[in-house]
Amino acid sequence: MTESAPPRLRFAPSPTGYLHVGGARTALFNWLLARRTGGTCLLRIEDTDKARSTEDSTKAIFDGLKWLGLDWDEEVVFQGANLERHQRDAEALLASGKAYRCFCTPEELDERRKEAAAEKSAFKYDRRCDELAASEVERRVAAGMPCVIRFRVPEGETAWDDLVHDRIAFPNKDIEDFVILRSDGTPIYNHAVVSDDIAMRVTLVMRGDDHISNTPKQILLYQALGAPLPRFAHLPMIHGTDGKKLSKRHGATAVGDYEHMGILPEAMVNFLALLGWSPGGEFEEVMTLDQLVAAFSTDNLLRKASVFDPKKLEWMNGQHLSRVPLAELEPRVTPLLVQAGLATAADLAARRAWYFALLDLLRVRSRLLDDIVRQAGPYFRDEIEYEAEAVAKQWKEPAVVGPLLAATRETLAALGPWEPAAMEESLRALADAKGVGGGKIFQPLRVALTGLGVSPGIFDVMVALGRERTLARIAQAERHLAGMAGGAG
Ligand code: GLU
Repeated sequence: MTESAPPRLRFAPSPTGYLHVGGARTALFNWLLARRTGGTCLLRIEDTDKARSTEDSTKAIFDGLKWLGLDWDEEVVFQGANLERHQRDAEALLASGKAYRCFCTPEELDERRKEAAAEKSAFKYDRRCDELAASEVERRVAAGMPCVIRFRVPEGETAWDDLVHDRIAFPNKDIEDFVILRSDGTPIYNHAVVSDDIAMRVTLVMRGDDHISNTPKQILLYQALGAPLPRFAHLPMIHGTDGKKLSKRHGATAVGDYEHMGILPEAMVNFLALLGWSPGGEFEEVMTLDQLVAAFSTDNLLRKASVFDPKKLEWMNGQHLSRVPLAELEPRVTPLLVQAGLATAADLAARRAWYFALLDLLRVRSRLLDDIVRQAGPYFRDEIEYEAEAVAKQWKEPAVVGPLLAATRETLAALGPWEPAAMEESLRALADAKGVGGGKIFQPLRVALTGLGVSPGIFDVMVALGRERTLARIAQAERHLAGMAGGAG
């Protein structure tokens, strides 16, 4: 394969419960690069830890990737199904003298580890089983003595040109002869990964930089197995806003949690893409998936840890909420409105034009899908709840506001066509006639119509509500204010 051949990439999550945002970021970067270069993006489920890998957690990964809109080429590889190859590769290393059997028991190793700790020296396997005569090894194997297979680390240095960090080198003397196959015949992570990456012809390994210390071991295995080396790109860690590694302490870390919070997948993808990558120079942060694909390159991968700021994610979501085609937004909001008991799907379908106009109105002031649902109440319910803060601010003087609202209602009732320009003209004329500014009419009216202190433009609100509901709601507010004024007097 030549240098310029499109890369074969893979995302290799361990199914341990859910798709972590860090894993999602790794998946996204691999996917973006594959799509950008015409390469191949593979998925490998590293389910060798049978105790922790369940079907549910594998499904959580598939669901998370699907929600984000990330797909993969070729069939999914389940690492656990490759056990025989892992064993064959380990045997091949034994046969070529690059690995050896080690009969030291865990208890013996623990003992030596303790001794090293007592002497304050770093523990490293002392290679005593490498000294065993071939006949003795045969004897022990024949006697059924349990053993692991260890890789014999050669002298020298192991280095690579990382696409993120440039050259990284490890002196081999710091790497002990590591185990590749356990005594039960199952492979250790580094060995399984290399065996699989070779079999899958992966040419670029892009993963979190918490794997940097594994990479020299993996390179040594590639070399010992006589396989061409892939390139490596180690992505910076994701930190919380306090600069510490992102964990549950910082809030949700599962991609699925963000889905349930009302984050759009477009926003999540956009947000994740900017954790550890930037298009470079001056750039527009809000990007669609297609724009991300077009801009993505390994040249602008960042070295520094990136910060997962939930506020920024919300902001990003607001931006995408305002931009996605309404036809795409609708299927995401409808189930939430139905769930909130505001409407039925059939009702919304019957009033599609009105519903789309309402969505268009409400999304402007929304950051989360829930914000749309919360604001939607007044357009669906007959009953209205007045937000205490809005009442305190805009209905401070019921005796003044009440009559102004009554005059507003009469003006609107007399209006010809129910459209914004006419509403505005007549209500501004009313304000002039009463000798007050427009705000004295519009702000209390907003509370009367929506119960809220913040809403879309007041004329748009009235169009969305319709004439009848608008007038009824003002009348209801007048009664409420009369009660307040009575109570106060
Ligand atoms: N399964 C490993 C993990 O989830 C990743 C292995 C790799 O990318 O090499 O951290």
